[in-house]
Amino acid sequence: MEWTRSETLALAMHNCTQCHGSGLRLGKTGTFSPCNCVLRSIFRICYGRFVNNMQKEKYVSRVSLEAHQGRSRPSTWGRKEEEYIADFCLVSRRSLSDEEYRLFRYHFLLGADWKLCARKLGIDRGNFFHAIYRIEQKLGRVFRELKPYPLFPLDEYFHGPSRIGPQSATTLHGGEAATASQKLRFPSPLARSA
Ligand SMILES: [Zn+2]
Repeated sequence: MEWTRSETLALAMHNCTQCHGSGLRLGKTGTFSPCNCVLRSIFRICYGRFVNNMQKEKYVSRVSLEAHQGRSRPSTWGRKEEEYIADFCLVSRRSLSDEEYRLFRYHFLLGADWKLCARKLGIDRGNFFHAIYRIEQKLGRVFRELKPYPLFPLDEYFHGPSRIGPQSATTLHGGEAATASQKLRFPSPLARSA
C-alpha cells in the first residue's frame, strides 16, 4: 500500500527527530515510507481500543445485525467488539516471533510492567523498551497494511461487514487467540455467533 502525507501527518509526533512531524521518511530507493512514530501511534490507538473493548465486555453485551460476506450466510448476529479483540490477538500472534510474542503477552495482554517483564524474561530495562518499540512498530504496520481488512483505521473496521465466516472461525478456535481469551476472561465471540 502507499502511505500518504495526509494520513501520516495526523499520526506523527510533531517533535519527532526522524520525520519532523510529517510522518514520512524518504528511503534509499526514493520512495516514502511511514516513520516509526506513525507506526507506534497506530499500534497505540489499536491497543487502546482493545483495552477499552475488554473492559466494556465485562459489563455490556451488545449485538448488532450486520450484512455478511458470502452466500452461505446472508447475515449474522455479530459482535464487533469481541471480533476486534479476537482479531487483535490473532494478528499479533501471527506477526510476532515467539520471543516477541512472549514479551507482548506479558506486557500488553497481562499488564506486567517493565520490572516484572525484565525479571521474567531476563532482560534489562533498556532492552525491554527497545523491544517494546520494535513490537509496536511491527504491529502498527501490520494493523494498517493487513489485507483485505486492516484493523486500522478503526472507523472502517467497526463500520465494515463482519469477517468471521465458517473458515476463520475454525482457525480462531484452535489458535492462540482462544487461549488468550481464556486467560483474559472475555467471552469467545465464536461460541455465540456460531
Ligand atoms: Zn516520525
